Amino acid sequence: MNILLLGSGGRENALAWKIIQSTKVDNLYVAPGNAGTHLIAKNVDMSVTDFPAIKKFVLGNNIDMVVVGPEEPLVRGIYDYFVSDAAIRHIPVIGPSEEGAKLEGSKDFGKQFMMRHNIPTARYRSFTLEQLDEAYSFLEELEAPYVLKADGLAAGKGVLILNDLGEAKKELKKMLGGMFGEASKTVVIEEFLSGIECSVFVLTDGDSYKILPVAKDYKRIGEGDTGLNTGGMGAVSPVSFADDVFMKKVEERIVIPTVEGLKKDNIVYKGFIFLGLIEVKGEPMVIEYNVRMGDPETEAVMLRVKSDFVSLLEGVATKTLGEKTMEIDNRYAVTVMLVSGGYPGDYEKNKEMTGLDSVPDSILFHAGTKLAGDKVLTSGGRVIAISSYGDTKDEALAKSYKNAEKVVFDKKYYRKDIGFDLK
Ligand code: ATP
Repeated sequence: MNILLLGSGGRENALAWKIIQSTKVDNLYVAPGNAGTHLIAKNVDMSVTDFPAIKKFVLGNNIDMVVVGPEEPLVRGIYDYFVSDAAIRHIPVIGPSEEGAKLEGSKDFGKQFMMRHNIPTARYRSFTLEQLDEAYSFLEELEAPYVLKADGLAAGKGVLILNDLGEAKKELKKMLGGMFGEASKTVVIEEFLSGIECSVFVLTDGDSYKILPVAKDYKRIGEGDTGLNTGGMGAVSPVSFADDVFMKKVEERIVIPTVEGLKKDNIVYKGFIFLGLIEVKGEPMVIEYNVRMGDPETEAVMLRVKSDFVSLLEGVATKTLGEKTMEIDNRYAVTVMLVSGGYPGDYEKNKEMTGLDSVPDSILFHAGTKLAGDKVLTSGGRVIAISSYGDTKDEALAKSYKNAEKVVFDKKYYRKDIGFDLK
């Protein structure tokens, strides 16, 4: 079969790596892709949100399935675009409907969903500018730190956590006044939860589900989880605290009620659900829903899926996921992200990369890279993810760190403590 994968990051390189291992695949196209996907698939110069161009491409290239990497096309309704057009209705899109994508596209929608279906999450209320006084009163009821979340998508920057009440009120007013444009015209204020986070990924066809290997990502730029937030500096799977007892609670209290809740609400959902979880005194609670795989978690999680991934995706498309089995590799898988010095602030691009061929015991997933003739240049903040297997977390990390030295580009930076807080 022919598959079109949408996206251009490390996540998509990892998905592409897994997809082409399937004997079912004849051609894999990645739009727009990067220098890493170019090595294993055919890159297509096409925007992930240009739906008419995507339609033309799938018809012109006999595409049998579209796999959506990032959230933006989902939130903009790519699933519904396909379903509502007789010419492409028969081509399955792996991802939720526009209504389902609101779980990520609107934090207020996500919170209401959790409340409606009794899914454990922080106490919250949502406010608009007209309700500023009420919002201040709600803040006064809560204890510091104060969590303010822009309702809409804000490129991972829409969450503010403030220690001071006065500061929280000031920032709240700015947010409601349009600090993140339309995205913060509604703000979710919620109780602060203290604990350790992990990411659980669920693949669902709307009836059945499979829980993919659990991972933990490291968002801060600095060691010891300090400094600014990034798109993610590394990930580890499995996660020591997410043991069988914890995961049973996750399945019973969160995964099942989520899949059942979608069904009860008549929300069409055939794709990935990303549960951003926090363990509070042994109990899992939901911090957020995303409607796609995480990055860089995917660069670790895909290593641990042993089964034919395309067969699982076909199960999603044909609502036969329940008949499929998913085999998991028991080894550890980790990923360490090499980034451009200065990121997540200003950084330079177009640095030539060398050493990419000298890392046999790791798997490289490109994120921000591009080809210039036969050279590979940096083209983003997060540049390359170095993923490795190991019988232990430390063994896997040692491989990634050894190879992080071998991949060379000017002003390279990476965190040397990925997994530091796990056993
Ligand atoms: P992402 O970029 O991960 O998609 P986001 O901008 O959609 O993030 P959230 O994941 O909801 O926003 O929040 C970002 C981070 O803020 C969380 O990973 C968590 O560390 C912290 N956070 C969010 N809500 C809470 C809370 N209620 N209590 C404590 N920390 C929180």
